[in-house]
Amino acid sequence: MTTPDLLLTGGRVRTLDPERPSASAIAIADGTIVAVGRDAELRDLAGPATEVIDLGGAAALPGLIDSHTHALPSRIPLRGVDLMDARTLDDVRAAVAAERARCEPDAWIFGWGLDYNAFAETGLHGSLVEDAAGGRPALLRFVDFHTALVTPRALELAGVDGPRHFDQHAEIVCTDGVPTGELRESAAMMLVEAAAPKPTDQERYDMGVETLRRFAAAGLTATHLMDGNLETLDLLRALEGSGELALRVVAPFWIEPDTPRELWVRYARHRDEHGRRWRAGVVKFFIDGVIDSGTAWLYTPDSRGEGTEPFWPDPGRYRDAVAFFADHGFQCVTHACGDRAVREALDAYRNAPGFAGVRHRIEHVETLQPHDLPRFAGQHVIASMQAQHMMWLDPDRGDNWSQRLGTERCDRAFPIRSLLESGAALTLGSDWPVARFDPREGMAAARLRRPPGERDRRPYDDQALDALEALHGYTTWPARTVGHDDRQGRIAPGHWGDVTVFADDPVDCDADELPQNPVLLTVVDGEVTHRADEL
Ligand SMILES: [Zn+2]
Repeated sequence: MTTPDLLLTGGRVRTLDPERPSASAIAIADGTIVAVGRDAELRDLAGPATEVIDLGGAAALPGLIDSHTHALPSRIPLRGVDLMDARTLDDVRAAVAAERARCEPDAWIFGWGLDYNAFAETGLHGSLVEDAAGGRPALLRFVDFHTALVTPRALELAGVDGPRHFDQHAEIVCTDGVPTGELRESAAMMLVEAAAPKPTDQERYDMGVETLRRFAAAGLTATHLMDGNLETLDLLRALEGSGELALRVVAPFWIEPDTPRELWVRYARHRDEHGRRWRAGVVKFFIDGVIDSGTAWLYTPDSRGEGTEPFWPDPGRYRDAVAFFADHGFQCVTHACGDRAVREALDAYRNAPGFAGVRHRIEHVETLQPHDLPRFAGQHVIASMQAQHMMWLDPDRGDNWSQRLGTERCDRAFPIRSLLESGAALTLGSDWPVARFDPREGMAAARLRRPPGERDRRPYDDQALDALEALHGYTTWPARTVGHDDRQGRIAPGHWGDVTVFADDPVDCDADELPQNPVLLTVVDGEVTHRADEL
């Protein structure tokens, strides 16, 4: 046997390998796990160059994977102030004013993570943050990245002074023909974004490095990106070339309604592109928007009469695109929040050509009609769910999302357990930066159906996963989702050398305390990407 480069000993190893569920030591050589067993069995494998780390009784798990993130900067760059903790309009204004003070005197002000509920009483108007922005151009994205709030100055610089027509379901929201500062969906947001200075290649690279380091420090070893293009592959090459690719990445090409067919053909030629830790081979579509802004596609309208329009003006073109890429051996991924959107995606997948070993997936599935539920298992379509998105939902159904859907559809909110029990394959993810990327919070949210730590708050419903299922949702399930189940998601000989070490085993942890469970060590491909001081 090859001498290991890395030997972890003294751990409580939960392997998720049915052949050998527990162990205390793991040996990794050339990025691959070569032996799993007891300390006494593996100690002799160490050579003079082997790095030995004594885990001191900590819990080692298969390297955690987030199935849905926007971790690398692409068309929608993540910049500016994090507004996720701003719960009220005053909080938002304070955060914008602080960001203004931090930026150059005449720079644009950017922010992300806005909460729709902060505008429940006022409605969405860019003028609400105009003073806080000091009259400067500001572009603030909502938590779901489907809506933005921009100041009058930003509209002026972008030359936007009235409604526009888009080739996708996007909108410059206007009152009496005058833009309010609310922009719905990417085409509308890009119009204003395009007037702001673009991040340079170096800035994009630096953002990527920084984000991947933060992911590694939270125990993540891999992620499935949800947007990308040929530039994303260049960025991955650059990151890997300089040893900064701290996570394994599966990167899709994002296909929009107006993406020309010539570009489909061009993307198809890049299907098998890969590095050591990344690969292409996936396409991502949006078939609707989000329930919060009325852009999700529903069977029947929401309480404000919205939600009956598809994101693709011609859904037939979406089906053609799915068929084209499925025929070229791509895995198709479709964002579908509304029940009608989910059905349309299932229909498109059912009618698409099959390709050996490829299973398509649907992201979010925030509400689902009972007759469509068994189709996930029946068609072998993977349901990719984001339990943290429920943390904004109020068990009394008073929040914007629930109000729009109404009680009956709320009772089918994020049907994670129903899907699991129907035999469907699931996977879990954060959709960062829509929700925090911390997998401990993700697992806790899947178990609690409410935010961790808020013990006196009732769960939204009874669709919770148990602790072991939640762990599978970040290990074996995402590995299966991208067809890596023979080398990822378990600690077993022949699998990739990816390990996450927590102080305590999350399966034994109280879900409310899980986010405080220290991440002691993260190993990707046999390389230590994070090591806490206490280890
Ligand atoms: Zn997403």
